[in-house]
Amino acid sequence: MKIAAIETIPYAIGYQKPLKFASGEVAVADHVLVKVTTSDGVVGYADAPPRPYTYGETQASIISVINELFSPALIGRGILDSEQIFQVMNRTIGNDVAKGAIDIAIWDCIGKTLGQSVHSLLGGYSQSLEVSHMLGFDDPAKVLDEALAMRENYGISSFKIKVGRRPRELDLEICTKLRAGLGQEADLYVDANRGWSATEAMAALPILEAAGISTFEEPCDAKEYLGRRELVKKSSIPIVGDESVPTPGQVTSELLSGGCTAISIKTARGGFSNATKILNLCQGMGVQVMIGNQIDTQIGTAASLAFGASHLATTRKAAELSNYLDLKDDLVANPLEIKNGHIEVRNLPGVGVEIDQSKLDFYRIR
Ligand SMILES: [Mg+2]
Repeated sequence: MKIAAIETIPYAIGYQKPLKFASGEVAVADHVLVKVTTSDGVVGYADAPPRPYTYGETQASIISVINELFSPALIGRGILDSEQIFQVMNRTIGNDVAKGAIDIAIWDCIGKTLGQSVHSLLGGYSQSLEVSHMLGFDDPAKVLDEALAMRENYGISSFKIKVGRRPRELDLEICTKLRAGLGQEADLYVDANRGWSATEAMAALPILEAAGISTFEEPCDAKEYLGRRELVKKSSIPIVGDESVPTPGQVTSELLSGGCTAISIKTARGGFSNATKILNLCQGMGVQVMIGNQIDTQIGTAASLAFGASHLATTRKAAELSNYLDLKDDLVANPLEIKNGHIEVRNLPGVGVEIDQSKLDFYRIR
């Protein structure tokens, strides 16, 4: 089975409620659906969510790098030639989301060709994942109302709170209010998306610790070298690397130099192959991991679910799988369902996503 065609389909779907955080705001999912067709006519899909303020990729750049560089070099190669495929894409630096979508779409083809779910091919550890919900910037009372509604409607009891604003008291008030409103059993953790300086993050520690925050993600820019390491040493809360660690090399560098103590893995960055390398590296070093969310649609979320549920280490903390709930619509014909705080894996061949072609026709940008 060889790669016969790679298509890049731009589309746009609005959010009911834009997600606001320290490094940006997302009001529209202006993504690229990547479609890989094999010589046997098997079709695999993946979603590419551009996040220019974090990684520099845009909808147009994802299309360009795939159409101009990756596609010509990949067409004709076998879908199982994973190391060749990796090396071809690795000739181009960065562009981890474009690379990730190609990787996931090829994995979808492999699963469909073999009649096996990618979840089982990757390890198949668990049939479900616990879901964590991400809470963007808003007034403290509104954030608490949203968390309570998510617990009531979906049984979710793990929440990521976006922080990193100035004055920081507003964010810290949210953490304290959520702990009081949700009780001790809720898992609460924060992500500053580099919004604070290391000094500001350090000053936030006592209140975050008092609120029982379980992890503190990208408290400041990882390039703030000494301050970040001082913070990691002082914090009793594990410091999580996310956008600072998209590749195994960066994971190694940040962990060994004391820039973070836990790692957020996102399948949208580099796909299942890159995520597997990072996971194996972290397991070898005895480092905590979690499944993050690149503000994914249901297509991207299904990929995170397939990967996260396939390994023990990624089931230990709730996975960020609920951002798609804020989208006005989605491209899938078989929607995901969050029940009792969990999403079940669907054992369909491939990643588990069926595309609704009429919705794709409606939302695609021509
Ligand atoms: Mg993050």
